[in-house]
Amino acid sequence: SERLKAGLARTRQQLGGGLASLFGRRRIDEDLLEELEATLLMADCGVEATQHLLGELRTRWKRDRLETADQLQQTLADALHAIIAPLEQPLEVSGHSPYIIMIAGVNGSGKTTSIGKLAKYFQAQGKSVLLAAGDTFRAAAREQLMTWGERNNVTVVAQEGGDAAAVIFDAINAARARKVDVVLADTAGRLPTQLHLMDEIAKVKRVIAKAEPGGPHEVMLVLDANIGQNALAQVQAFDKAIGVTGLVVTKLDGTAKGGVLAAIARQCPKPLRFIGVGEGIDDLQPFRAREFVDALFE
Ligand code: GDP
Repeated sequence: SERLKAGLARTRQQLGGGLASLFGRRRIDEDLLEELEATLLMADCGVEATQHLLGELRTRWKRDRLETADQLQQTLADALHAIIAPLEQPLEVSGHSPYIIMIAGVNGSGKTTSIGKLAKYFQAQGKSVLLAAGDTFRAAAREQLMTWGERNNVTVVAQEGGDAAAVIFDAINAARARKVDVVLADTAGRLPTQLHLMDEIAKVKRVIAKAEPGGPHEVMLVLDANIGQNALAQVQAFDKAIGVTGLVVTKLDGTAKGGVLAAIARQCPKPLRFIGVGEGIDDLQPFRAREFVDALFE
């Protein structure tokens, strides 16, 4: 879509544009492949995915006698698609009522904003939503959610001060009483340097399981695309503590590091539920690998 294309402008420039100038210039040779390698690394595809992509290209170049820039670009687009396609596993919010989504991420990753966007997304599907303001470390996060909830007619369960686990416990009980379809449970963010401090968030997960046996049904980690390769460490740290079942990658619009999706797919694959491509309420989109690749190369 045009929106996605616009959102991915910078990665497009880095990858697509970089490639266009590379391919436009001359015939395919080892030098060109080396420059291509640098381009992929700069788009944050990571060493592993970059090597894989180059391997594919080299094989096809020799075997299929690729000659034109178009052919090489098409081959690269297909190879990239093959890498990230397994991440495309849309979230099905059904089978549990309430369906509890626990949302985690470091401070500034876009957690609170994404919760607002997700609430809208589910409401648009005719589902009722309740927000649990479990980020009790940051008063501003609670305020932000409450203001947002008032404006959009979404119930927010919050508690001044208080303990995150207690807030989320109350929220789940309220959701059950009101027959709410989806609970979005915010959790306290932490600094990227505090990835070892996971006790509190692990406790929140246990409390959810107590309040709603079988829950949480989704443990969603929000990642800022700007952190590039550091995303891998965040996925691993959160996964170890709380068992991540889905990802949201935000701020793909502001960055040239969109290649990070390839790195995630190769090195710590998790279902990529949504991507954030802007600050607007509709700028959170279900991830579709083909659309993503087309937006980069078309
Ligand atoms: P939190 O600390 O993780 O709760 O982060 P916030 O939700 O407060 O977001 C931090 C900043 O990132 C805010 O200024 C958001 O508007 C911005 N943001 C979040 N998602 C996106 C996105 O997809 N694109 C852009 N451009 N900005 C975003």
